Amino acid sequence: MGAEGTANDEAGMGAEAPARGVRGIGEAASSDGARETATGAASGRARAFLGSFFHAPAYGVVELLEDALIEVDVRGRIERVVLPGEPDRAAAVASHREAGDLVELPRGTYGLPGFVDLHVHAPQWPQAGVALDEPLDVWLQKRTFPLEARFSDLGFARTVYRDLVRRLLSLGTTTTVYFASNDLRSSIELARICAEEGQRGLVGKVVMDDPTANPEYYRDASTEQALRDTETMLGEVESIGRSCPQGVYPVVTPRFIPSCTDDALRGLGALAERYDAYVQSHCDEGQWEHDFVLARMGVTDAQALYRFGLLRERSIMAHCTFLSEQDGELFARVGAAVAHCPISNSYFANSVCPVRRLREQGVRMGLATDVSGGFSLSMYDNVRHAVMVSRMLEDGVDARVGRKARGTGDARITSAEAFWLATAGGAQALRLATGTFVPGNAFDAQFVDTTVAGSELRGFGVFEGARDVLDRILFLATPQNVRQTWVQGRMVFDRASLDA
Ligand SMILES: [Zn+2]
Repeated sequence: MGAEGTANDEAGMGAEAPARGVRGIGEAASSDGARETATGAASGRARAFLGSFFHAPAYGVVELLEDALIEVDVRGRIERVVLPGEPDRAAAVASHREAGDLVELPRGTYGLPGFVDLHVHAPQWPQAGVALDEPLDVWLQKRTFPLEARFSDLGFARTVYRDLVRRLLSLGTTTTVYFASNDLRSSIELARICAEEGQRGLVGKVVMDDPTANPEYYRDASTEQALRDTETMLGEVESIGRSCPQGVYPVVTPRFIPSCTDDALRGLGALAERYDAYVQSHCDEGQWEHDFVLARMGVTDAQALYRFGLLRERSIMAHCTFLSEQDGELFARVGAAVAHCPISNSYFANSVCPVRRLREQGVRMGLATDVSGGFSLSMYDNVRHAVMVSRMLEDGVDARVGRKARGTGDARITSAEAFWLATAGGAQALRLATGTFVPGNAFDAQFVDTTVAGSELRGFGVFEGARDVLDRILFLATPQNVRQTWVQGRMVFDRASLDA
């Protein structure tokens, strides 16, 4: 679905074994002392990066590629990772220095994979943080739908979408799966803005065609129109994606089963199949959706989506908090993915997505902010919250209930697992070659400076093991610590330009 050379072929997905000479997390960190702090090549010409990089090559496994040289080809894909002690490393570093295409990370700065955010409602960016103490139906009907309807105004849409994409890049998010609005033109515009700003965007025009379920001022004119608009979206965004190195992709996007007619759902499933397109929707977000779909369809949300042809290899389903064991098996069998939205779970899901159970069933999973059902655009905040809500699911929260019945047991996830979800897991969910620093993957990275003045990332000389450093970054980093973001080997955000 993307341009040749973009991160569309999962090339690096098989490389889960540690690279030669890679130091496992938990071993003592060493330092080489005298590296220059200046960053070398500017945006366009970088072909190599020298520094220390964290990534999660497998679920629950974190590696520090310490003092690594990462070489990148002309298409922004990682060519090789050269670690200290390998024979031609010094010569390679010298030759990149001479060519002026080397970027050197200062001491105290670490490269992390760019985050993959699997679920963002782009037109809800102005609503972030607003009215989250309301029930979901009030939140949607009184706030969200009137706001989303404003995106038929292309000027307003451009302003909000441009700001959103830039803000996500500044927080280290290099790939984002977007619900745009019901409006076709501005949805295409969001894809164009992703292409221009250098973000890998997956964008869908939202279908909500059922006149009995949606307000008159904000719904598709008809089922036929909804399907025609979706097909136009598939063609237009496909061609936008071909024009940019990082790739931009169209997504078939029924809002969720309750807002669509059976005919629309069936038609969208057929389009997904014909175009081999990505699909996104909400599945089993909370008690209401779970009960509603069961009553209307006679089967669970997951099974109904499957029957409509919407649960397939390239499907990303948000929330999935009520999935049964059978639903989990169905997801695993067809290769559909779950977008876990831990902050949003706390507001609207009436439950917490059972990440550990679904992972054990072999379900593809990643992490998402669900702005603005989640208030924060930051995947850091969602990594933190993913760990927290998993503890609450495991232990339960009502002390009046006996200990054994209070929680589900065996639900907690580690920070390493949450980090994997936010990076490699999201990439695997999308079948895109990114999320780890291995040859064949796109070089998508964020550079995190742990020494920024006023930063909270101070170890005071204790807890300086590699895993401690990473945990401190994951739990305490602020936007100030994210200094640069690179997508497909190109710099797309530089905080220095804001500080100047
Ligand atoms: Zn959502």
